[in-house]
Amino acid sequence: MNVQVKDLHFEPFISHHSIQARVVELANRLTVDYHGKNPIFLSVLNGSFMFTSDLMKSFLAPCEISFIKLASYEGTESTGDVKTLIGLNHSITNRPVIIIEDIVDTGTTVKKILELVWQHQPESVKIMTLLFKPEALKENIEIDYVGFDIDNKFVVGYGLDYDGYGRNLNQIYVVK
Ligand code: 5GP
Repeated sequence: MNVQVKDLHFEPFISHHSIQARVVELANRLTVDYHGKNPIFLSVLNGSFMFTSDLMKSFLAPCEISFIKLASYEGTESTGDVKTLIGLNHSITNRPVIIIEDIVDTGTTVKKILELVWQHQPESVKIMTLLFKPEALKENIEIDYVGFDIDNKFVVGYGLDYDGYGRNLNQIYVVK
């Protein structure tokens, strides 16, 4: 069924069932890759809250989960595009880190997060994203785990918003 979010109309794109099946596959791969490694997952808010929740339910090894946000640096005159990570309240030094993103579009956000995370001297950093738009990618970065490659179109649902709305939809919709 089509949905309207604010002024835009969307049609179903990736069903709840397909998302759930893929999320379990990704979690199984992570369980194998990180068994015995004591990883820490960094879930990037707000968009990845639903994906993180489902993914973590099927990750079957000891781990920690932290929620982070990329924010503009406050408290200086020259705010410009200086960014800071907020919410990183676990030590990630010498730990294997997996960044959990909802979507990688141009790659700018995840590149910035990578730079900031590496400043804490983790053992390794991998990127997991539910959605990836290969045609939109501008940065020279490698995405380690991808749920779905999608076309360069605007999507909402399953955590992703349009102007704050639509995050609660339990499947992914694409703009008409
Ligand atoms: P970037 O271009 O830096 O890779 O993506 C930045 C952010 O743009 C993503 O984290 C996400 O919040 C937002 N974004 C990019 N494409 C979409 C999309 O199709 N739908 C929604 N809801 N957000 C998007």
